[in-house]
Amino acid sequence: MLSRQQYKVLILDKSSKKELLEVKDFRTSAISQGSSRILKEISIWNKIKNKAQPINEIYVSEGINSNELDFKSEALNEGPLGYIVDNTYLKKIIFKEVLESNFVKFVGGVNIKDIKSTAGSATIFSNKGNFNAPLIVGADGRNSKTRFFANIKSFFYDYNQVAFVFNISHTLSHQSKALERFFTSGPLALLPMQNNNKKSSSVVWTVDSQLKEKLLKNKNFRNEFEKKYAEAFGQITKTSKPTIYNLNVVSCYEYFKERVVLVGDACQAIHPIAGQGLNLGLRDSYHLAKIISESLELGLDIGSRYVLKDYTNKRLIDKKLLIQATHRLNQLFSNNSVVIKAIRENGLKIFNKSSFLKKQSMMFAMGLMKFDF
Ligand SMILES: Cc1cc2nc3c(=O)[nH]c(=O)nc-3n(C[C@H](O)[C@H](O)[C@H](O)COP(=O)(O)OP(=O)(O)OC[C@H]3O[C@@H](n4cnc5c(N)ncnc54)[C@H](O)[C@@H]3O)c2cc1C
Repeated sequence: MLSRQQYKVLILDKSSKKELLEVKDFRTSAISQGSSRILKEISIWNKIKNKAQPINEIYVSEGINSNELDFKSEALNEGPLGYIVDNTYLKKIIFKEVLESNFVKFVGGVNIKDIKSTAGSATIFSNKGNFNAPLIVGADGRNSKTRFFANIKSFFYDYNQVAFVFNISHTLSHQSKALERFFTSGPLALLPMQNNNKKSSSVVWTVDSQLKEKLLKNKNFRNEFEKKYAEAFGQITKTSKPTIYNLNVVSCYEYFKERVVLVGDACQAIHPIAGQGLNLGLRDSYHLAKIISESLELGLDIGSRYVLKDYTNKRLIDKKLLIQATHRLNQLFSNNSVVIKAIRENGLKIFNKSSFLKKQSMMFAMGLMKFDF
């Protein structure tokens, strides 16, 4: 984003150039409408959109009962609710842009040993030498070393859940629909994919540790999944090998400290229940890049407390709301109590009747709500 405005950026990554070009990530990402606009602004979306499957409808239900809550793009005049994009493709396209830019220098295979800040600049000490800059942006994921060396404290909570991620092919078209089915053992998301003539979906099946052990021990993964899938898009004709992700939340108490600012999962790594982690990180980057370029134009010190406080204020509400929403949603729907179950079922139906609430939550999930006062 900054290089598009001809500002010089140095990217240090622990992975080598070769590793990042050959990356294999079996997940897909739900890219919100707002994120697609950010990528459009920096001329990357035109390279992705042909491989992006639009989501026009989302159906939410308690178990397989019925579709108790629906979100349809036609209710707003903003285009699709989001897009499903293959992660391997997305990562490669973005990394190639980085390599082709005259304003970005990439150094791979970096092992950060320490970070020190002074009044005028910050320094990264690493196996590849020392690097000085007025500002360090920690975008190094949920186990961020930048966060550790900057001594930024964070909240951690283990959900005792895992997500099985895999793809299925089915006999019927998904018709650009995504399904989110909530079970007390964890939610199941079916996300429409473009390939196989719209007869493929990406699956994110979250289960608690108890069910995970059972599934792996008794080898009844497919049976158990088929019960929950319940022929949503006809019979399953093919299933890929599942990849397993342990689920936890990491959330920083501060977003910056002494010339180091965190974005994306390094600052908040959330539950994938709503497919929003990458979208939140893209919005972090978008607003940070905007504040940095505005500050540079005004001749301000981009690593100063004043500038980074401005960034914090702009991002606070969006981040807090989403972290809380995903955390609470997961807790609410993983609860076995009969009373909570009744509240949930009725809640979904009542929610479905309020076009105001539905439109507001769609705008929020699509990343189109404005929080930067
Ligand atoms: C099962 C699952 C499904 C998901 N689905 C969605 C979805 O549909 N939509 C969505 O928006 N989000 C989704 N997410 C969340 C999304 O994957 C993350 O939010 C996103 O990948 C975070 O991006 P990031 O760039 O901040 O971190 P990462 O993707 O973790 O990238 C970190 C980068 O930093 C580098 N790095 C790491 N450590 C170091 C170090 N010590 N030194 C230097 N470099 C380092 C890495 O090599 C990498 O390049 C999902 C997550 C899971 C687990």
